This record gives sequence, C-alpha cells and structure tokens, in this order.
Amino acid sequence: AEERLNQAQKLEAIGQLTGGVAHDFNNLLTIIVGNLDMIVRKPDNAQRVERLAASAMTAAKRGAEVTEKLLSFSRRQVLRPETVNPNRLLKDFRALLQRAVGEAVEVRLDLDASLDPVRLDPGQFESAVLNLAVNARDAMPGGGSLTVKTCNAHLDAQEIAERPDLRPGAYVLVSVSDTGQGMDAGTLARAFEPFFTTKDVGKGTGLGLSQVYGFVRQAGGHAQIKSEVGRGTSVELYLPRSAEKAVESRPDGPLPLRRAA
Ligand code: ADP
Repeated sequence: AEERLNQAQKLEAIGQLTGGVAHDFNNLLTIIVGNLDMIVRKPDNAQRVERLAASAMTAAKRGAEVTEKLLSFSRRQVLRPETVNPNRLLKDFRALLQRAVGEAVEVRLDLDASLDPVRLDPGQFESAVLNLAVNARDAMPGGGSLTVKTCNAHLDAQEIAERPDLRPGAYVLVSVSDTGQGMDAGTLARAFEPFFTTKDVGKGTGLGLSQVYGFVRQAGGHAQIKSEVGRGTSVELYLPRSAEKAVESRPDGPLPLRRAA
C-alpha cells in the first residue's frame, strides 16, 4: 500500500508548512528568546544561567532538526551521486545507527556479500536510513531489534504496473525492519505524505518518510512499506543497480551525522 505524492498533496504540504512548522518554529524561538532574556536580566546565578542556557540549547537543536528535514524535503539540495556499495555505507555508519536507536534496540546488519553497486548520494542514503532507524526506535519504546538487510532483487513489469516512471529490471533491495508496534491501515496509507505524523507535537515533523520517499525517487527507485500491527514494520527501498564499479572509499571517510548546509 504505497501512497504517491501528487501535485495536490505537495501544494497542501506547502500550505501546512506555514501553518504547522512555522508555528512550531515560533514556539521554539519564544523559548530561546525568553531564556536569554532571563539570563540577561539576572546573570549572576551560575546555576540558574546554566539551566536556562541548556533549555535554550535544546530548543535551538530541535529547530535545527526541523530545518534540516525541510532542506532535504525541498530537494533543492545539491545531489552528489556516486557509484557505491550500500553494504560499505551501512558498515561505515553502523555505530552511528546504534547511537541513534539507543541501547534498548539491537542493530543487526544482514548484508548480501555479492551485492551489486548502486548510484546514489551517500549523504542522502545515510539520512534515509537514519530516519528509518529513528522511526523504528520510536515504534519500540520497550526495545527490540532493527534489521537492515540488503540483497540483489528484481522488479518485474507486474509489480510496478502502476509506476510508468520505473523500469522493470535489476535493483538492489535495502530493507529496514523493526519489531515494533506496526502501523494500522490508515497510518500505512498516509505514511509517506509530508507532515503526516501520529506523534506528539515537537516529537514528530512528519517529514522523515517523505525524505526517504524523495531520496528513493531521485535515485530512480521505488519505496514501499509492509507493516503489521503488534508485529513490526519493514520499509523496502528498491534502488536501481549500476553497471559501474563501486568506488572503494571516499577520501574524506564516512560522512558526519549532520553536515552544515
Ligand atoms: P514522524 O516520524 O516525524 O512522525 P515520518 O514521516 O517519519 O514522520 O512517519 C510518519 C508516521 O508513520 C509516524 O508518525 C508513524 O505513525 C508512522 N511510522 C513511521 N515509521 C514507523 C515504524 N517503523 N513503525 C510504526 N509506525 C511508523
């Protein structure tokens, strides 16, 4: 059950942007300005200053998260596609993935050693997998496991009948699965929509899965979700296989979690 982002949804999303995200953003700025104001008025109590500064910092970081997601959603970001082996990228940021999900979640990599290369922007791929990992963590408040699996796959004409932009053929499948609460039918149908979230205000922006969707579409691939309430969720990313040979490593090593825009 995959929801396509059509033009009307995009326009609706832009409308909601001014209403929803700008509102959240304003709340965060209110906290930051308020705390700084309290510090300026009474700067001599070090403990109080520290507490107010820490709370302003948390609000500022949350704001940075929102803008980062908006940037990747707006797709105006410069893409730097490379021919890579997804296994290598996944191994490179395994530690980062583990940190993102916390100790209660076990991260497993199930990587096909004969995986073909794909052509994609490694930074976008990393953000997509991180977004999926964070969603998985949120779906497993009591802990569980997150499995990232890779394999060579084939999409036949029938499977992609509704997708005239896709060609049947050779793909690499990267699936990110959790043992969490799963999605009900209503959530599943809308999950890829920008700004659709079932999370509390301040906890979810509803942009995680739309970033994933946008990334996969840009890479010429296909994304779908399989989910069962009470059992877990699998997000499957089909990325077109590349005929080129993968570059062995990037000169600057694995990408940092956040790059300055
Ligand atoms: P956000 O995480 O900010 O809410 P997303 O676009 O990433 O935005 O996800 C949209 C919604 O899809 C979430 O609010 C949640 O209801 C559902 N969802 C996403 N991933 C999962 C998952 N792994 N397990 C259960 N529900 C999920």
